[in-house]
Amino acid sequence: MKTLVWVEHDGKTVKDATLAAVGAALKLGEVHLLVAGQGVDAVAQGAARIAGVGKVHVADDAAYAYQLAENIAPLVVRLMEEHDAFVAASTTTAKNLCPRVAAMLDVMQISDILSVEGEDVFTRAIYAGNAIATVRTSDARKVITVRGTAFEKAAAEGGSATIEAVAATGDQGVATFVDAEIAQSARPELTSAKIIVSGGRALQNGDNFHALIEPLADKLGAAVGASRAAVDAGYAPNDYQVGQTGKIVAPEVYIAVGISGAIQHLAGMKDSKTIVAINKDEDAPIFQVADIGLVGDLFKIVPELTGKL
Ligand code: FAD
Repeated sequence: MKTLVWVEHDGKTVKDATLAAVGAALKLGEVHLLVAGQGVDAVAQGAARIAGVGKVHVADDAAYAYQLAENIAPLVVRLMEEHDAFVAASTTTAKNLCPRVAAMLDVMQISDILSVEGEDVFTRAIYAGNAIATVRTSDARKVITVRGTAFEKAAAEGGSATIEAVAATGDQGVATFVDAEIAQSARPELTSAKIIVSGGRALQNGDNFHALIEPLADKLGAAVGASRAAVDAGYAPNDYQVGQTGKIVAPEVYIAVGISGAIQHLAGMKDSKTIVAINKDEDAPIFQVADIGLVGDLFKIVPELTGKL
């Protein structure tokens, strides 16, 4: 089976999430990569060094400069004439691209897989992770997204794939890039951070969120996350959200501050290696998954903890 893996990148380097997608694709057989962009030589070189990869297809064209899914989907569809599966990490960008590819190929997308059980058989979480479904596809060509935390990442170095230029499929003229506002942060990225400090509704407002959660995160070299309640109330930006409808994370340490532990939040972080919960309610559901629990007022505990670190 020949699999094409979508390489997500920032124009210079391959994003970490791609390595997990390659890890999953290697379980299906031969792995090729697709690098689409403009001036992406360095990305293609980096992609070719990923262990286990046979070939890197590079589409270097102005139509792909801003990663518009509308332009990249036809390119993937054309390359799928010679591949059996298209695999991408379950990132925001890939969630924009993959359903378009699946629709154009007239196949059903298999989303957010947790394991590869066979060429056609995969597992995926349902009911916010409370049950695992085993799904079998009868589609000849597959479109699959991969939960990054469920697969071992392929090694970023050690491979020597061939690099092959592919012809562009052009600008489809249905979407135009206008502007991008990229959040700049010195903190680690949420989905690849080793430590995450997340804040919930209990923080009461954005000022408290900045004043309490961020200094603790910075002392620990951690990424900052938030519950949906904190995001909806405007204490933290949308891309901080952890959970069923946010990001799925599995760091070494997850510190939940003033978060009750609703199943939709747990769905995004319960695979973390060590979970620390700070909550004033000793019956809060978060304590059922926590390895270390601190019952008390976060407005007292967090400054004390930050001060002692
Ligand atoms: P609350 O549930 O209000 O909990 C606040 C906690 O803080 C309480 O446990 C309280 O005891 C504690 N507390 C209060 N004051 C203090 C204090 N001074 N010191 C210490 N502790 C204190 N939620 C997500 O997080 N992520 C998702 O992706 C997500 N997706 C959803 C999808 C759907 C379809 C639905 C229906 C819901 C989703 N939710 C999600 C929302 C989820 O159900 C909860 O409403 C949300 O997680 C609650 O956020 P919270 O824990 O911050 O707030």
